Amino acid sequence: MRRLRKAYLEITNVCNLACDFCPGTRRVLGFLSPEGFRTLASRLRPHTDYLYLHLMGEPLLHPQLGVLLEEADALGFRVMLTTNGTLLRQREALLLGSPAVEKVSVSVHSFEGNGGAGEDLEGYLDGCIAFARAAAGAGKRCALRLWNLDGAETEGANRQNGQILSRLREAFPGPWRSDRRGTTLAPGIYLEFGEKFQWPDLSAPEEEGRRFCYGLRDQVGVLWDGTVVPCCLDHEGDVPLGNLYETSLEEILSGPRAAAIYHGFSQGEAREALCRRCAFTRRFQ
Ligand code: SF4
Repeated sequence: MRRLRKAYLEITNVCNLACDFCPGTRRVLGFLSPEGFRTLASRLRPHTDYLYLHLMGEPLLHPQLGVLLEEADALGFRVMLTTNGTLLRQREALLLGSPAVEKVSVSVHSFEGNGGAGEDLEGYLDGCIAFARAAAGAGKRCALRLWNLDGAETEGANRQNGQILSRLREAFPGPWRSDRRGTTLAPGIYLEFGEKFQWPDLSAPEEEGRRFCYGLRDQVGVLWDGTVVPCCLDHEGDVPLGNLYETSLEEILSGPRAAAIYHGFSQGEAREALCRRCAFTRRFQ
C-alpha cells in the first residue's frame, strides 16, 4: 500500500473571486456531493492521514461543508483548508467546531490579486485577523499567506504588502519568530511568504534541465469528478491517471502512466508534457 503525505480532494472548483494569479479552469464547474465525498475520501484514507479540501475553487462556498467535515472526522482525517478569506466570518463556527480541521491557510494575497486595491483592505484584514485569533483559541493553526513576492515575471504584484504587514504588526506586536517555514506571529498564528508562482500550462514553453517533483511521491490530487491527477497544480486535469470512483488508488498509482511519472522523476526526467512546463520543479534543482 503506497503511503502519501497528503491528498488533495477538490470539493468544488467554483470560486467567488477571479484573482489575477489564478488560471481558473475550463473544466465543468460543480460541487462534490456528500455521498461522493464519502466514497472518494474513504478510498484515500488508507493512503494518507492528511486531507486537503481544495485543488481549485473556494472550499468555504460548499453548501454542505459541515457534512463533509463530519465525514472527514468520522474517517479520522486531519483536514487542511486553504481559503481566500472572504467567507471566514460565515464559516468560522463550522470550521472551529470541527475536530477534523487542523489548519486553515488564508491566501491574503488574493485581496490584491482580485483588484481590491484601495477598497476595504482594512475590513478584509480585520476579518482574517479575528478568524486567526479565534482559530488559535480553538486549538487550530492559522497561516496568513503572502504568496506574492516578486519573481522575474511578477514584479509589482505586491504593492499592498506594506499596509498588510503594518496592520499585522499592530495586531500581533510580537516578538515575531522566523524560521525556514515562516514566521510565527503568535501561538498558532503564522505568516507565510512565497514567490508568486506560475501554474503549469500546456501552452507554455518547455523548461530545460533535470527535473524532480514530489507529485505521486508524497501527494496526489483528486478532482471533484473523481479524476486522479499527480498533484495539486494540475488544475485542468491534463494528466488524468484514472477515476477513483471506478478504480482503487493503489491500482491507479501502479498503472503505466503513474509509474512512468514516478520513475521518470527518480531519474531526473519529466515524462509528462505538463511537468516539462512546470516551474515548480525548479524548487528541487
Ligand atoms: S512537475 Fe508540476 S505538474 Fe508535474 S506532477 Fe509535479 S507539480 Fe504537478
